[in-house]
Amino acid sequence: MSEFSRRSVLGGAAGGVLAAAATAEGLAQGQQPPSGPTPASLTGTELPSFRFALGAMTPKVYDGGWLRAATVDQFPVSQKLAGALMQLVPGGLRELHWHSNAAEWAYVIKGQCRVTTIDPQNRSEVVDFGAGDVWYFPRGHGHSIQGIGHEDCLFILVFDNGYFSEFGTFSISDWLGHVPPEVLQKSLGVPAQRFADFPKREVFIAKGAVPPPLAPNRAGSLDATSLTHRYRLLDQKPEDYPGGTNRLVSQREFPISTTMTGAHMRLKPGAIRELHWHPNADEWQYYLGGRASMSVFGSHGRVRTDQFGAGDVGYVPQGYGHYIENIGTEDLDVVVVFNNGTYESISLSAWLAANSPALLATNFQVPESTFAGFPTRALYIPR
Ligand code: MN
Ligand code: MN
Repeated sequence: MSEFSRRSVLGGAAGGVLAAAATAEGLAQGQQPPSGPTPASLTGTELPSFRFALGAMTPKVYDGGWLRAATVDQFPVSQKLAGALMQLVPGGLRELHWHSNAAEWAYVIKGQCRVTTIDPQNRSEVVDFGAGDVWYFPRGHGHSIQGIGHEDCLFILVFDNGYFSEFGTFSISDWLGHVPPEVLQKSLGVPAQRFADFPKREVFIAKGAVPPPLAPNRAGSLDATSLTHRYRLLDQKPEDYPGGTNRLVSQREFPISTTMTGAHMRLKPGAIRELHWHPNADEWQYYLGGRASMSVFGSHGRVRTDQFGAGDVGYVPQGYGHYIENIGTEDLDVVVVFNNGTYESISLSAWLAANSPALLATNFQVPESTFAGFPTRALYIPR
């Protein structure tokens, strides 16, 4: 059954009309179809916590690195985005694999790593990453990640499917370990004995030697028709606001990143990312440092406020109102990721500015003079 007909059945005539409108207009603009039923975690009289302590999870440890991962199983509100924190030692290799049900977006926190990719035209890219760099692998593209340099490489991974899990990860060792060597001989044209010592189970993270530097003509090289998987976010000149800075990478800045947008936001002590919402995306956050308070508005008088520190993950469902305050004494750094390649955000300041004092006076049942001196445009990060 197609998505359209399934929604028609579930949602009745109104759902069908909405789905049809989204198909004709919205999808052409890179938007998403209407949301499905509200998840059970969001239908109660109280909102659940929008915080998950990813950094405090017990990691899964390998010789070549470790992994802390949170899907909707661990963090029930994160229906549309899943995330993980991974560290690779120098030479540690996250093996060749692909994801059947999600694209992968990453931000390198520290260290360096080398990525290899293969795209559906069987073109490859081999490129090195350092702190502040972002990668994006479209759903299904093959890739590997290896720690290079002299220190461990730490990065966050975000997947545009909250139900993403290891069942959606297809590893080369797992596959070849379950194919008869005679078939591999036939498929690859080399003797079956070559595969005698291949592992029979998924390797996931292996440990090896640090590879040599890329040849200058290989570093980041791509043929003219390919899109690079790397975007150097921290090299971007930030947007400056009275209360902080923001660096944004959407499909506009990073053409391959068609289904996800990310940002590195810094708030000064006391500053606020103003009241706003995102019409076209859920929001997944990773707090790099500082102390934050985020408040989420879920309609019907429901507001939930959680506090966040380094290593915490936050989540805001699509369309839910929210704001973030720096409640600490140091800068607050947070990486924010959306499940849409087009960035959309509606600011409370701009919304109020778009309406006359007379309308606002009626709306709030107060005198018009109340709105003298209100902002005349979006403030984004005021202070
Ligand atoms: Mn991956
Ligand atoms: Mn937001």
